[in-house]
Amino acid sequence: MSTIKTIKALKDGGVKEPRVIIMGAGMSGILMGINLLKAGLTNFSIYEKRSTIGGTWRENTYPGIACDIPSYFYTYSFEPNPHWTRRFPPGSEIQAYFERVFEKYQLASYTTFNEEITNTQHKDGQWHVETASGKTDTADFIVAATGVLHKINEPKFEGIEDFEGDVFHTARWNHDVELSGKRIGVIGGGSTGTQMIDPLSKVAKKLTLFQRTPQWIFPIPDKAYSKLWIRSVKRFPVLGKSLYRLYKFMQERTVGVATVKPGWNRSILNKLCEWNLNHVKDPVLRAKLTPNYEPGCKRLVMSTSFYPAIQKPNVDLVTEGIDKIEAKGIRTKDGVLHELDLIVQATGFDGFAFMRPMTMQGTNNTTLSEAWESGPRAFRAITIPNSPNFFMLNGPNSPIGNYSLIAIAETQSSYIMKCIQKYMEGVFDYIEPKQEAVDDFYKTVHEALPGTIWTTGCQSWYLDDNGVPLLWPWSPQRYAKEMSQPDFNNYHLKKA
Ligand code: NAP
Repeated sequence: MSTIKTIKALKDGGVKEPRVIIMGAGMSGILMGINLLKAGLTNFSIYEKRSTIGGTWRENTYPGIACDIPSYFYTYSFEPNPHWTRRFPPGSEIQAYFERVFEKYQLASYTTFNEEITNTQHKDGQWHVETASGKTDTADFIVAATGVLHKINEPKFEGIEDFEGDVFHTARWNHDVELSGKRIGVIGGGSTGTQMIDPLSKVAKKLTLFQRTPQWIFPIPDKAYSKLWIRSVKRFPVLGKSLYRLYKFMQERTVGVATVKPGWNRSILNKLCEWNLNHVKDPVLRAKLTPNYEPGCKRLVMSTSFYPAIQKPNVDLVTEGIDKIEAKGIRTKDGVLHELDLIVQATGFDGFAFMRPMTMQGTNNTTLSEAWESGPRAFRAITIPNSPNFFMLNGPNSPIGNYSLIAIAETQSSYIMKCIQKYMEGVFDYIEPKQEAVDDFYKTVHEALPGTIWTTGCQSWYLDDNGVPLLWPWSPQRYAKEMSQPDFNNYHLKKA
């Protein structure tokens, strides 16, 4: 019998259901809520720090925002979306999709908006949470669905407060600021910075990209789906489901393999990136855009519009380091002042924050900051020692390098449901990973990491202070396989 059916039967048979708190109403929090509801479990609350759902896709609304995973695969496997209008879905469509799903499953009645959980502590056999407004709640299980990139990286450039124009981070886009006819400076050329160059180049009087390190750009063309195709997918959902499987297969067999082991996939990836770069005609500009590391070491940017846009007459690429910001613009280290009306900080995020700044204390009086003193660690990306019945979605070392975070969260959420089933069957009251299991896991991860593309010599948000990537060094398929059933030998199972 499936997990969902077993849990339903247990509940129908009178077994008391656990109380679950889900932190965050983004993609993975919504997913967890749906899985609980599907199993007939209703004693749960989702706490969301902002006033609406959506996580990443609510926060990031910059011009040109889109997902670099094909739309049909960037979808819950059980909830196909016949409305996708493009191969790479624009952010607003993704947000609309999550809003529709949230409404369909009537999750609003389980969600408390504008309440950020600031502290959680395991005491007297339960998790006690506290929100920024002082509200308190308790739960048997906590699922941290707080996302990977929610804490922005905003370098404090000298003199930034003197700038007379507007300045904001890409995840805090100020839509009241007029872009048309302006001199816009974008600091940072990662996935976000490169993505906005084409749309901004169409409105700006002058656009300047301040690039510290060039990115490799993989030429996957975006395309609009025809009205006929969209109608067909609505009428024959099997079409959407087939594309989900096709894109999943392609993602796993191409970038999924190329990033974790050398071979022909990696060679083809390299060649295609080089071929794409050669579309830049001016050799000086091309040299400035040529990375000195292998494609995929930093997360690959998927674009066919960046190189044409950066070659436009109203677009400049500046590779001199930034010295300081002044009233009129950005002064680079060569002494040149680049006059600007607007500065956009496309400087990325802290990929190591996870549920922090929330504070947390498990059973042995150890705080999360103490437990994670040398970096975030979680057994197979989801559980932490001394933190009973605490689970993370897309936690440290999840296989997130150019793969759909939705597919990973689904694997992890199913795993959590299997643990909840065992809890309801009375196998345990508390589950937490053994320290040896975590240590063994990290030993094998660290042994495997040198074969991956992320350790070939570049700086990226994947890496910790010692240059070690916080990623899954094998294929996403292996992760799905290892997570298909909890191996309870790796856990302390305790009774109350
Ligand atoms: P990012 O990849 O970390 O890029 C940040 C950029 O800012 C880099 O170019 C970095 O330069 C630069 N930077 C940071 N601090 C700087 C400083 N003090 N001075 C000058 N430059 C500085 O961040 P992101 O572009 O926001 O992307 C983060 C992740 O979000 C992506 O890897 C991807 O996973 C996701 N994302 C996906 C999409 C998509 O689906 N299309 C779009 C956007 C984001 P260095 O390289 O030299 O450090």
